[in-house]
Amino acid sequence: MPQLIDGKKISTEIKDELKEKVSRLKEEGKTVCLAVIQVGKDPASTIYVNNKKKACAYVGIESLSYELPEETTEEALVSLVEELNGNEKVNGILVQLPLPKHIDADVIIRTISPDKDVDGFHPESVGRLCIGEPGFVSCTPAGIIQLLKRSGIEIAGKECVVMGRSNIVGKPMSILLLRENGTVTITHSRTENLREVTRRADILVVAIGKAKFVTRDFVKDGAVVIDVGMHRNAENKLCGDVDFEDVKDKVSAITPVPGGVGPMTIAMLMYNCVTAAEK
Ligand code: NAP
Repeated sequence: MPQLIDGKKISTEIKDELKEKVSRLKEEGKTVCLAVIQVGKDPASTIYVNNKKKACAYVGIESLSYELPEETTEEALVSLVEELNGNEKVNGILVQLPLPKHIDADVIIRTISPDKDVDGFHPESVGRLCIGEPGFVSCTPAGIIQLLKRSGIEIAGKECVVMGRSNIVGKPMSILLLRENGTVTITHSRTENLREVTRRADILVVAIGKAKFVTRDFVKDGAVVIDVGMHRNAENKLCGDVDFEDVKDKVSAITPVPGGVGPMTIAMLMYNCVTAAEK
């Protein structure tokens, strides 16, 4: 059996560290507050939002909840975000994506003050990440770096292949691995000889949104595999972009789904909120 990289355990470790930090901040008279905005009633978004609020309660972060109707206009959402930008009590602003089709998510992301951009999606945050300046980092890739480091997996000098180039996972993941001195290759839907490229990886991060796509012929013997994908099968069971059963005997370490990357995303959101309050 390979080493199972336990995201549940590591995320709890991080939240416990943050809990202590938050109580120290409280002793200094500082509170931490996250504003969470959901537009519409998409059931998956409601689950994500509730999990984020639960994590806030666990860590000691106050959460302000804004549940807006589906027909909310872009202008109304922009003005709520602007109001929260100016509210000194609020340290972080999270707008749950996806938004209804009539609202341009890019406009909303750009409206959030970079100082309160705890999702790390604002172009200023992304630019800072690229040039190595301090700033908020997208939570899922930041969580993956924590998973690797806290599991004792060396990144420096290793061949790292990232499958997927989305703005929220693939691209920031590649830059973070580069920052940790990995030798990074990014693949996407137009990559030729995909398996040849992925088989070079000492560390393979898979974020393509295709259930059980990565089978044993994609991985090198002894590779570390990080599975970002999240899908529900016909029996309502969660699975990832990697065919876990097929690859598990070939790899040295792997994240399970559920219980791998998923819990880390929320832990790093909490981390970003505390960092925002400390500034
Ligand atoms: P996305 O925006 O759909 O991007 C998918 C990427 O995969 C694209 O860059 C695409 O290439 C590439 N791709 C698609 N098919 C491919 C193929 N056959 N071979 C190689 N590359 C291929 O997805 P995302 O938002 O990054 O999310 C990816 C997965 O992670 C989803 O399952 C999502 O649910 C999950 N996710 C989980 C968490 C978590 O907290 N656990 C957080 C975020 C996302 P092109 O650019 O060429 O189209």
